[in-house]
Amino acid sequence: MLMFDVIIAGCGPTGAMLAAELRLHDVRVLVLEKDTEPVSFVRIVGLHIRSIELMAMRGLLERVLEHGRQRPAGGFFAAIAKPAPEGLDSAHAYLLGIRQPVIVHLLEEHAIELGAQVRRGCAVADFEQDDEGVTVELADGEQLRSRYLVGCDGGRSTVRKLLGVGFPGEPSRTETLMGEMEVGVPQEEIAAKVAEIRETNKVFSLGPFGEGVYRVVVPVAGVSEDRAEPTLEDFKQQLRAIAGTDFGVHSPRWLSRFGDATRLAERYRVGRVLLAGDAAHIHPPAGGQGLNLGVQDAFNLGWKLAAQIRGWAPEPLLDTYQTERRPVAEDVLDNTRAQMALSSTEPGPQAVRRLLTELMDFDEVNRYLIEKITAIGIRYDFGAGPDLLGRRLRDIDVKQGHLYDLLHRGCGLLLDRTERLTVGGWSDRVDYLADPTAVLDVPCVLLRPDGHVAWIGDDQQDLDDHLARWFGKPAN
Ligand SMILES: Cc1cc2nc3c(=O)[nH]c(=O)nc-3n(C[C@H](O)[C@H](O)[C@H](O)COP(=O)(O)OP(=O)(O)OC[C@H]3O[C@@H](n4cnc5c(N)ncnc54)[C@H](O)[C@@H]3O)c2cc1C
Repeated sequence: MLMFDVIIAGCGPTGAMLAAELRLHDVRVLVLEKDTEPVSFVRIVGLHIRSIELMAMRGLLERVLEHGRQRPAGGFFAAIAKPAPEGLDSAHAYLLGIRQPVIVHLLEEHAIELGAQVRRGCAVADFEQDDEGVTVELADGEQLRSRYLVGCDGGRSTVRKLLGVGFPGEPSRTETLMGEMEVGVPQEEIAAKVAEIRETNKVFSLGPFGEGVYRVVVPVAGVSEDRAEPTLEDFKQQLRAIAGTDFGVHSPRWLSRFGDATRLAERYRVGRVLLAGDAAHIHPPAGGQGLNLGVQDAFNLGWKLAAQIRGWAPEPLLDTYQTERRPVAEDVLDNTRAQMALSSTEPGPQAVRRLLTELMDFDEVNRYLIEKITAIGIRYDFGAGPDLLGRRLRDIDVKQGHLYDLLHRGCGLLLDRTERLTVGGWSDRVDYLADPTAVLDVPCVLLRPDGHVAWIGDDQQDLDDHLARWFGKPAN
């Protein structure tokens, strides 16, 4: 039977990112993707600041910038149109609008370049785990073996269901139809009508998307029984119900529907099987956070699972994946619940929306919400210490150029302004940079491979303790 270190179910953004992260550490990875062709479904997603930073940390920034459109970072919380405050703490303080199939393709290409195997048309149908590994069975009966299995197989995750992990939360109560099509009335007529509806209905939108195609987003009361693909007639009916006209829509490019279910997996790990991305959490797309959250899950998990496989992971390291990432997902679920409530056309929520809009004139309120949506405000609990401990470090200037350029290999990094410290027996896992000129107001920082600050100080013994905490025993 073919043996891998890690099998990943699902080659969406989360699975592709995880495969690439694991390959940085020479882990033998196989990604199984049930679809034979890459997704054709064109969602425009926004890469928020933290995800753009991850791309920079792995040398992918230029590639993604080439395919995306930079837009201002503000205006995403409940679509309240407030510009971002001055001086956001990032060298990449913008939103990158990019098509989901494009970002998936770029991440998959990156993973393959690094040596990951991707097999399409292979659905994980069953698995069984024992003390040494996991036997994965495909829909056609073929069996494969790996040391770990990660379910990155989306909101209806087969892996999560087979694992018996609960997925509590709220079911969908409303649906939204979304698609691209042509229209039969002049643009000015559409713009006036859309502006009028959007006064109260923040979900509705209908706007030009290039080459004569319009993107239509229209909410529906209730939930379809069968979750079937919507038809053009469904769009027309719903447009007439909301706008009094169907704008003569015709010639659809694609049509889809999505719900507003909000759910979080009870556990992210059971033995040798883990969950990441939509397989672990689902929520409405308010604020455009789902893909970002999944890619960041993968970034958190990759080096930890690699450490486990390479044999240097300290005992609790792999479990910090859940303790760090599940609360982040809980927070995203909550902020999307809040955003959905603020999008209601009822007078009460509309009044709260007006009040919040006023409050966002206070720089601190605006900043707090933007740091939440863009995930740069995340602080993992690494114990007591300065505020920077547990946070990600921005891309600062160092003597060789940009700090993030030194993180492409996926190793830890000791940035030492004192030029006195050493990473000693951890040098195979942690890079070292002595730079008294680094733009930092603490003497030294130890960064994990995901760029979060694991230690701050100037004492070698204290540093060694923290190196052991995060990077295991030193090599002899
Ligand atoms: C309308 C809309 C707009 C959105 N906009 C944004 C946005 O602006 N920003 C943002 O961050 N997010 C956005 N999202 C959310 C984002 O699309 C998802 O969060 C993201 O796709 C999750 O990635 P994933 O890799 O975890 O799962 P998925 O993208 O669902 O990928 C899972 C993959 O697993 C495969 N698979 C499933 N079952 C199996 C199996 N048994 N075996 C093998 N393979 C399997 C699937 O075919 C799929 O390729 C939006 C979502 C919607 C609906």
